[in-house]
Amino acid sequence: MGFDIPIAEPEIGEEELKLVMEAVKSGWVSSKGKYIKEFEKDFSNYIGTKYGVAVSNGTAALHLALVALGIGPGDEVLIPTLTFASVANAVIYSGAKPVFVDSHPDYWCIDPEDAERKITERTKAIIAVHSYGHSCDMDCILELANRYGLYVVEDCAEAHGAEYKGRKVGSFGDISCFSFYGNKIITTGEGGMCLTNDQKLAEKMKILRDHGMDPKRRYWHEVIGFNYRMTNLQAALGVAQVKKIDYFISKKRKIAKTYNSLFEGIDKVVCPPEMPWAKSVYWLYSILIDYSKTSINNRDKLMERLGQKGIETRPLFYPIHEMPPYRKYSQGRCPVAEKISMRGLSLPSSTKLTDKEIRFIANTIIKSLQASI
Ligand SMILES: *Cc1c(COP(=O)(O)O)cnc(C)c1O
Repeated sequence: MGFDIPIAEPEIGEEELKLVMEAVKSGWVSSKGKYIKEFEKDFSNYIGTKYGVAVSNGTAALHLALVALGIGPGDEVLIPTLTFASVANAVIYSGAKPVFVDSHPDYWCIDPEDAERKITERTKAIIAVHSYGHSCDMDCILELANRYGLYVVEDCAEAHGAEYKGRKVGSFGDISCFSFYGNKIITTGEGGMCLTNDQKLAEKMKILRDHGMDPKRRYWHEVIGFNYRMTNLQAALGVAQVKKIDYFISKKRKIAKTYNSLFEGIDKVVCPPEMPWAKSVYWLYSILIDYSKTSINNRDKLMERLGQKGIETRPLFYPIHEMPPYRKYSQGRCPVAEKISMRGLSLPSSTKLTDKEIRFIANTIIKSLQASI
């Protein structure tokens, strides 16, 4: 809103409208109706897992996953500090304690070595967040989890369709969690999903998302659940979006390629990583900038200048351990994450972006950084 070139914009067409209209007209506007199951089936098939449990949003997906795995008070959960605060919130909702882990300098996701240093006898799980569209190093994470008996929850909210060694993220962990918020790779407005290959976990999550109600005996409750259901209207939107996901990903990758070529040779700009073992979906195309010896001098000034030109940008996430409600869980600094966060900037990345707009954005940045003091 307010910018000529927004950072992210959903691409919603006639197909989506048709299915949502159908859902509305059918009268199945809440969480019963054919589109929920269809969306769960289509999306879990796409990622390559047996079961999908659609929920109201990505944060609910994370919370549901932790509760289904039996994680609660007295437990510790390893999470990256450089990510959306919702990951820490979900751990805190479960009653467990978030333990903040530094980022890997080469690909910005959770650093397996720092994670290992922070394991205690209370550690029950690790949340591998595939950040900004790039996969974690899953071999290292799975090896660690095996050695210490930890559950692996993948947070794929920024990485639908991203790959690790040729296999889609979301198919590695005990449970993987997705968000379909408006700025993600595909959207249902608000929405999320848990994926798993474990039938028992899938059934448990279905019960927990529906108030804990016994599926065979309505209004009989064996557990205290939540209302984390997705609506049929959202699922209808999702069914249409899943059909376009490969197109969205190829568009994102093309946008990244164009930006990369424009920033080539600009030594003040570090382009987003793509490790040899990863296929990134470049959720938000994000760069690191060296502001020294520029007239701009810091990120806020650069963001302001870009804003004046109608270009919306976003800082990278603040490290969670530095923010007031989370400081009490902090175990000291995470220097790599702090440095990446301070230098990082996300650029407009929506699939509707044109080559001309990308050139305008890159050139405006390059010009601003060139003006030496
Ligand atoms: C967006 C996001 C979430 C939360 O999703 P919501 O649908 O907004 O609740 C969780 N984790 C990460 C890494 C995200 O980017």
